Amino acid sequence: MDPRQGRRILVSGVVQGVGFRPWVWRLAQQAGLAGRVFNDGQGVTIEVFGAPAALDGFVTSLGQPPPAARVHSLRCQVIAAQDGEGFVIAPSGPAGEAGRRVSIPPDIATCADCLAEIEDTKARRFHYALTNCTQCGPRFSIAREIPYDRAHTTMVTFPMCADCQREYQDPADRRFHAQPIACPACGPLLLLVDGEGAVLDAADPAAPAARLLAEGKIVAVKGIGGYHLACDATSSAAVCRLRERKQRDEKPFAVMVRDLAAAEALAVLDDAERALLASVERPIVLVKRKVDSGLAPEVAPENPMVGLLLAYSPLHHMLLAQAERPLVMTSGNLSEQPIVFDDADAQSRLAGIADAWMVHDRPIENACDDSVGRLVAGRPVLFRRSRGYVPRPIMLSSPVAPLLACGAQLKNTFCLAQGRDAYLGPHIGDLDNLETLAAYEHAVARLQRFVGIEPEIIAHDLHPDYQSTRYALARPEACKIAVQHHHAHVAAVLAEHGLAGPVIGVAYDGTGLGSDGTAWGGEILLADFAHFERLATLRPIALAGGDLAIQQVWRLALALLDDAFESDPPLAALELFKLIPAGEIALCRRMIAEKLNTPLAHGAGRYFDAVGAIGLATTRSHFEGQVAMRWNFAAEASETGHYDFALERTGRPWVMDLRPMVRQATMDLVGHCAPAVVSARFHNTLVAATAGTVRLLCQQHGKHPVVFSGGCFQNARLTESLLAALSPEFSVHLPGQVPPGDGGLALGQALVADAVARNF
Ligand code: ZN
Ligand code: ZN
Ligand code: FE
Repeated sequence: MDPRQGRRILVSGVVQGVGFRPWVWRLAQQAGLAGRVFNDGQGVTIEVFGAPAALDGFVTSLGQPPPAARVHSLRCQVIAAQDGEGFVIAPSGPAGEAGRRVSIPPDIATCADCLAEIEDTKARRFHYALTNCTQCGPRFSIAREIPYDRAHTTMVTFPMCADCQREYQDPADRRFHAQPIACPACGPLLLLVDGEGAVLDAADPAAPAARLLAEGKIVAVKGIGGYHLACDATSSAAVCRLRERKQRDEKPFAVMVRDLAAAEALAVLDDAERALLASVERPIVLVKRKVDSGLAPEVAPENPMVGLLLAYSPLHHMLLAQAERPLVMTSGNLSEQPIVFDDADAQSRLAGIADAWMVHDRPIENACDDSVGRLVAGRPVLFRRSRGYVPRPIMLSSPVAPLLACGAQLKNTFCLAQGRDAYLGPHIGDLDNLETLAAYEHAVARLQRFVGIEPEIIAHDLHPDYQSTRYALARPEACKIAVQHHHAHVAAVLAEHGLAGPVIGVAYDGTGLGSDGTAWGGEILLADFAHFERLATLRPIALAGGDLAIQQVWRLALALLDDAFESDPPLAALELFKLIPAGEIALCRRMIAEKLNTPLAHGAGRYFDAVGAIGLATTRSHFEGQVAMRWNFAAEASETGHYDFALERTGRPWVMDLRPMVRQATMDLVGHCAPAVVSARFHNTLVAATAGTVRLLCQQHGKHPVVFSGGCFQNARLTESLLAALSPEFSVHLPGQVPPGDGGLALGQALVADAVARNF
């Protein structure tokens, strides 16, 4: 027999609160090894003793951890063999210096075992809406303090019954140390209540709630990270009622279904989309809607895609099983307000919207909206990184000083970082009202405490009027570093991919303040973390009336046409301008000609808005990116033609001049060419101009990897065509787990600020 040996295995990553130790315990039992496993300051430590072959087999089997765990590193040392039999889950080791940053896991979707249990009439937890185990359930959303254990969660007020206690203490049980463990005897309960808080049903609330939904009513549903507003997604009347009451006119709603089979009935899915939908994070996934889906068109007006998500908590499963139809599940809030998560708030703030409330008495401590993603170039890209992902850290390739990056004004998230860990906070939204700002400040303070980071550096956008900038400047810390918006966009992608730069960064978005005081957004930068150089930009468009032109996109269109046709565009032949009173057109042209309140903007997004407005004959954008998105969806997939463009290489930066494109696209539309073809050619032109410019720049500045960033890269056609145009000649990096838009900006700010501070 082989002599007994010992191994110590240090595991770091998201390995606490996700069923990692019981899983290790079972593996060790199966392998007949002795030793122990315990949580420590870095993650989990395993010490095992036994025959070398068994030890090797054990270490190999650690390569496939439970679904919610994320192993960042696994280090194995040979240690002296110890006597003794049996394998135990030992008390936690010393927290150690880095112990404060072993954080709370993200919320995890209901696992198959728990689902089977709530459907089993003989099980203790039959139809129990708050069932969970070490593999699944709420985590971040119920955490009050660290370390993450029951006494520090909102479950503290529910003493365990004897049965739950036994499960909690049994290493062989799937609920061993499951902090939110509960059952109908001891845990929170589900209720259906009316607007006055009177109980409508306590026995099996999912059934009457489903009946109300079938009648076209709106039900507020308390989920994991906040309240949803639910209605029948197949009923136009119900969806319109929800839009009216929520004051949300055109933004698409997400639709929740029971399982993948139900998703398949509504949308065309490929394997990667199925995998993302069914992942433990359960994001909303934008997928291609089937023509005969049966969904009310008002769910996502003029949109060939639909945002689907699978049920992720037992109460969703029960509700959808009873409802037998897809349900709209949109954040419980009035338009532009933060998501409601407090029960009293839900009663008052959703009073004019919901007809009934499906609630339970497990408090939500940390609001966390649903995440949103889609497949771009065959890979998942998160557009909004929140529930299911937060607060899992993004691993950096080299350590940074303790810092807080305050993020952007729109789609705000913030970032706390120290060492090799960067924690992006939950999606906060647009910081343009007091409620959202309060939610932001609260979330910063909370995450700061959870991850134990005392920032030494505060990073913020260059824009002085962003609420996040004002917040940054009011912080007590002395070291404040302003980071240019597009530099931060590029840096976020560098950070995600562990690159140091320099890279050629293509940063295309709606707007961001440039270091020359103008609005940038069609930028090609040469950048590393500490520096950037603006090598090329799009020819700017005049914003007649400033921000007004971003909503009234016809103003952008007019400015673009006047520029391209030297003030003599064929307006009379374009459908768009038949919709605008002649007086308004004249007034707007005068503003442009006399440069009155008409700042110039370089944003690529503005080109989508302006050309989209002309092509779609649409006068205004009801929400950020609406016209750009419609213009993207309009593009004919098979069209390969493109228009002309010019590149001015005389000054610095070079200017990509798309006026030839504007003229040709306009003449195509005047000649009744289909908008779908014009849209495709517009996309192809932007791709050709960008790829051509990148190539020429690399001849001057050396060949560097290329990264794409900024909100325009949510556009799959743009991203995939530009990728095809540049690779494999260049190594190209795209955003993936960090959003390409402003929701990922804070990560880039953090890394830039750290690098700048080092160079002081
Ligand atoms: Zn479970
Ligand atoms: Zn119990
Ligand atoms: Fe941006």
